Amino acid sequence: TITSSKQAIQLEERYGAHNYHPLPVVLTRGEGVYLWDVEGKKYFDFLSAYSAVNQGHCHPRIKDAMIEQVGTLTLTSRAFYNDVLGPFEKYITEYFGFDMVLPMNTGAEGVETALKLARKWGYERKGVAENKAKIIVAENNFHGRTTTIISFSNDANARKSFGPFTDGFIRIPYDDIVALEQALEIEGVVGFLIEPIQGEAGVYVPEEDYMRKAKAACAAQNVLLIADEIQTGIARTGSLLAVCGNCTCEAHCEKQETYAKPDILILGKAISGGFYPVSAVLADREVMEVIKPGQHGSTFGGNPLGAKVAMAALEVVRDEKLAQNARKLGEIFRNRMRKMVDRNPIAKLVRGRGLLNAVVINDSPDSTTAWDICIQLAENGLLAKPTHGNIIRFAPPLVITEDQLHECCDIIERVISNF
Ligand code: PLP
Repeated sequence: TITSSKQAIQLEERYGAHNYHPLPVVLTRGEGVYLWDVEGKKYFDFLSAYSAVNQGHCHPRIKDAMIEQVGTLTLTSRAFYNDVLGPFEKYITEYFGFDMVLPMNTGAEGVETALKLARKWGYERKGVAENKAKIIVAENNFHGRTTTIISFSNDANARKSFGPFTDGFIRIPYDDIVALEQALEIEGVVGFLIEPIQGEAGVYVPEEDYMRKAKAACAAQNVLLIADEIQTGIARTGSLLAVCGNCTCEAHCEKQETYAKPDILILGKAISGGFYPVSAVLADREVMEVIKPGQHGSTFGGNPLGAKVAMAALEVVRDEKLAQNARKLGEIFRNRMRKMVDRNPIAKLVRGRGLLNAVVINDSPDSTTAWDICIQLAENGLLAKPTHGNIIRFAPPLVITEDQLHECCDIIERVISNF
């Protein structure tokens, strides 16, 4: 058993692949917005496992659902039916307002599923010539780590020495409707895969009407709009989905003036509140029906344990009004951080929506300043992680209270004012 942080870190260093660069904090327990390390120090979690624990750590309702199912039936494979998958499929499709769902496990698998679906739809419904389908993506996208997904990334570190890559992608600048309209003219385009807010790139929020305009531009060319809401979805940005725009309804609604309904919606992370890997691809019947038996799947996708956990996790989002909380507290957070930025030259700017926010540090991406700030934040009881060198993302669980948020703003202000 582990008795010190040092010991745990040494084991990971020695026996684990070095594919991450974690902050030197070894966590052993979580509850709501809090985490504890093995020495017993308590922290506010301001990463939320990259937005997978929007409902807070070890949420009791999700835990109860998981425990109930774990002693009943966990995995059947899709060789047979199970009695939780159908109810889950009905629940999630009604929740988000789509005809059908294809359940998978991880985010990257969800993205792969969407890409396959869009291509097949392009060949069989749009009449694109075999092997000529193209999918438009954005500069600085992050959609996961599989070989096809890194094929259309422009992150050199994510790609170097992993080729050869998959063809059929066109990359355009983010938040640029003219570039999208031009790319949509190219022959064979079947889909536009987009993050409604770019999370990993550093929380880039596009123009307010970007997704609605993108939707109209895609519709005009009979191209599928594919929204990757793996990080932005499930109340994180102050609405159920980032594509909901201004609407704070915690269940699906069709307020047409703000809603940019994607043709394919990809969800992951918080869909299971951090308990179990679950992802889902949602679409209406005319798209989803192109996938036939034997053409796609996964041993664990749609298993009863994940299905039960996901239903409980989505219920928590609705019952605890997490989108409304994220919206309200996000405003408070950005207001306080903007004042902090005005007073501290080391901080450059604040951006975000709901409780997905970032502070850009006024130093080069190669500097260690943001990392050093995160180390100091951890010493002061708040866990956050830099992205792209000089950007610090702040994304607490959405169950955080206003008092807790103010306490956290005090910590961040105190630490940053010392740099
Ligand atoms: N898409 C987006 C927008 C993400 O933020 C992530 C993960 O950070 C992924 C896809 C990949 O998800 P996973 O790590 O579960 O494969």
